[in-house]
Amino acid sequence: MRTGQTHLFVPGPTNIPERVRQAMNVPMQDMRAPDFGELTLDLFDGLKRVLRTERARVFMFPGSGTGAWEAAITNTLDPGDRVLMARHGQFSTLWAQMAERLGLEVEVVDAPWGAGVPVKEFARRLGADREGRIKAVFVTHNETATGVTSDVAAVRRALDECFHDALLFVDGVSSIGSIDFRMDDWGVDLAVTGSQKGLMLPAGLGILGVSEKAMAASETATMRRAYFEFADMVKMNAGGYFPYTPPTQLFHGLRASLDLIFEEGLDAVIARHRRLAEGVRRGVQAMGLELVAEHPSLYSNTVSAIRVPPEIDAREVIGAAYSRYNTSFGSGLARLDGRVFRIGHLGDLNEGMCLTALSVAEMALAEAGMQVDFGRGPAAAMSWFTGAAEAPELRV
Ligand code: PLP
Repeated sequence: MRTGQTHLFVPGPTNIPERVRQAMNVPMQDMRAPDFGELTLDLFDGLKRVLRTERARVFMFPGSGTGAWEAAITNTLDPGDRVLMARHGQFSTLWAQMAERLGLEVEVVDAPWGAGVPVKEFARRLGADREGRIKAVFVTHNETATGVTSDVAAVRRALDECFHDALLFVDGVSSIGSIDFRMDDWGVDLAVTGSQKGLMLPAGLGILGVSEKAMAASETATMRRAYFEFADMVKMNAGGYFPYTPPTQLFHGLRASLDLIFEEGLDAVIARHRRLAEGVRRGVQAMGLELVAEHPSLYSNTVSAIRVPPEIDAREVIGAAYSRYNTSFGSGLARLDGRVFRIGHLGDLNEGMCLTALSVAEMALAEAGMQVDFGRGPAAAMSWFTGAAEAPELRV
C-alpha cells in the first residue's frame, strides 16, 4: 500500500504545479469557435519570450519533442542533404538515427558520453567544407541522458567564423524554460522542445521556434511531410486555429504555466534551477559519487546523471527507491543502463524536494548494497541552500 506523496524525480515528465493542473480542468470547447484565438494567440507570444526571440515564429504541434525533431528536419531540408551531428548521449544518438531514417546524409562526430558537443571538431569540419555541402548543424543543448549542457553560442561562433551558412538546429527539450537559452542571440534557426519538462505540463505538445531563415528554407525544402507541414500551420495559426484537433486542455495549462514562469521571472527561474542543481550535485558528491558529466563547465542544471560504484547495480537503486520509497529516479539509458541513475531537478521544484531526492537516494543506495554514511548528501545540500557553503565558480 502506497501512502503519502509519490515523488517524481525523472527529468521529464516533471511535476505539474497545482495551478496548472487546475487550469486544465475545464470543459471541452469548440476549437472552431469565433473566440478560440483568444486562448491560443497569446501563447505564441509567451513561448517567444521563453525562447528569447522576437523574430522567430513559434509552432505548437500536437505531439512530443520527437515529433518536433521530425518537423524541424522535414520542413527545412532536402532528401540527401548533408548534416553535421554529434553523438554523446542517448538523445543526440536518437536524433542522428532519425535524420538517417529520414534520408539525410549524416556526418556524425562521436564523442564520449559525458562530453559536450565537440565544438572544435565541428569548427574544423565546417571550416573544411568550402563548398557549403553541410546544410545543417545539430546541437543537443542539454543531453538528458548524461546530464551535460553544451555551449550553443560557441557553435554559432564556429559557424560565423568560417562564414558558414548551415542552419543551426538545437534540441532544447530539457533546457528551454529551465536553463539559459537565447534563440536570437545565438542565431538558432530551429529550436525544439516539448511541453513536459521546463514548461511543467503533461506531454502532448511538440514546440518549435523557427527563425526567418529557416522559414524561408521551408518554402523550398523538398523532404516529404504531411502532418508536420509548417505552411498548413501558418495558415490556420493566423487566427489562432489549427489544421487538426488541438489539445485544448494543454493550452489552458500552458497559459497557467507561462503565467507562473513570468510571475517568478524567467531569469529567476533559471537562477533557481542553477541553485537547486548545485545543491543536488554537492549532495551527490558528498555521498562519494561521481557525475557522468566530464567537467563542471558541462554540468546540467536540469538533470544529474550519477554513476554508482562498480559493485552496485543502478537498477536496484532505482527499484528500491520506487518500491520502498515511492520515488522515481531516471534510469541509465542505453550503454549507461545499470551504471547510472538520474535525478531530474527541473520544473516545479524547491529545496525541500531536492533534500528528499538526496535522502531517498542514500536509502536506496544502501538497499542496493552500498556502504552509506547516512545524511552526508542532504547535509551538503543544506549547507549550500542555507548559504553556509561557498559558491562555486560561475559557469562562463
Ligand atoms: N530530446 C531530449 C534532450 C530529451 O530529453 C527528450 C526526452 O526526454 C527528447 C528529445 C524526446 O522528447 P519526447 O519524449 O517528448 O518525444
